Amino acid sequence: MSRYWSEVVHNLTPYVPGEQPKLPDLIKLNTNENPYGPSPRALAAIQGEVADTLKLYPDPNADLLKAAIADFHGIAPANIFVGNGSDEVLAHAFLALLKHTNPILFPDITYSFYPVYCGLYGIDYETVALDDGFAIRPEDYRRPNGGIIFPNPNAPTGRALPLAAIETILAGNPDSVVVVDEAYIDFGGETAVPLVARYPNLLVVHTLSKSRSLAGLRVGYAIGHADLIQALVRVKDSFNSYPLDRLAIVGGAAAMADREHFDRTRQAVIASRDWLTAEMSGLGFDVLPSAANFIFARHPEHDAGELAKALRERSIIVRHFRLPRIEQFLRITVGTDAQCQALVAALREIAA
Ligand SMILES: *Cc1c(COP(=O)(O)O)cnc(C)c1O
Repeated sequence: MSRYWSEVVHNLTPYVPGEQPKLPDLIKLNTNENPYGPSPRALAAIQGEVADTLKLYPDPNADLLKAAIADFHGIAPANIFVGNGSDEVLAHAFLALLKHTNPILFPDITYSFYPVYCGLYGIDYETVALDDGFAIRPEDYRRPNGGIIFPNPNAPTGRALPLAAIETILAGNPDSVVVVDEAYIDFGGETAVPLVARYPNLLVVHTLSKSRSLAGLRVGYAIGHADLIQALVRVKDSFNSYPLDRLAIVGGAAAMADREHFDRTRQAVIASRDWLTAEMSGLGFDVLPSAANFIFARHPEHDAGELAKALRERSIIVRHFRLPRIEQFLRITVGTDAQCQALVAALREIAA
């Protein structure tokens, strides 16, 4: 608190990121990073860019990166916006496309950055309760609104919504922008990107942080009708013309082009997730069906806070949200096989 702060800053409730402890030998399963590391081609491209050319500003349009994203998805660069991590892309979408008179809608249990952006930009919102199985009910999004946003698969539940349900929400809200945050889509969900051609109110947001293991590079993008993209560009060019530096542009482009690394590592994560789900179910946990690189689970006889504490004593960090409806759940990132095995061994010991 300072008397020098603006009123806006006094009233903010900032997002709290998962902790990044600097301890050796930690099994870090709390922030949904990908344990397999980025494409070697991305690393080589970044190394090649560490040169005297860093004295020059990067391309404000990041055309090289957009071309690689366009090629991956089979769409036109005019339908792509790139930003400094998808968090920045989402922030611009809130200001450019979701700030209207009516409140926007998002699930009661979802990515906790959404209400933070609403606070920052002065956007009213209403939360829509997930059903008892923690699934989104598309029919609940048929009411007046200034926009709709949800992750698919949802976070932190991991539950995916089928494309038909997304289409129901889009068709029922032709006057609102529907933002589908597909941060985890590559781990098993059905992407809404093909719907962009038919729904001018759809914005799909992706990140290279999760399935391409580049959380440290900060690259995210949105795909939508050119009019929606133009709105995002207007905000970006009123905020920071160069959100992606030279390393991020070349590294991101190379990562998008390396389909072999992408497919191999995401399949490894999917296989480990399914193994972890089976093992934890065997230990008595209720595990929600996950299409993401994390699982969301509770144990009927063990308090989630106690479990998280006991895991931490064994150098394993998971995420526990002390929030209504989910205070008995742990969100556990899928790690390497060895990390998953260590987690299961620790849980077996704790539960015994
Ligand atoms: C991780 C995550 C993001 C942000 O990813 P960055 O690209 O690293 O900013 C956005 N949405 C959801 C739901 C996420 O889990």
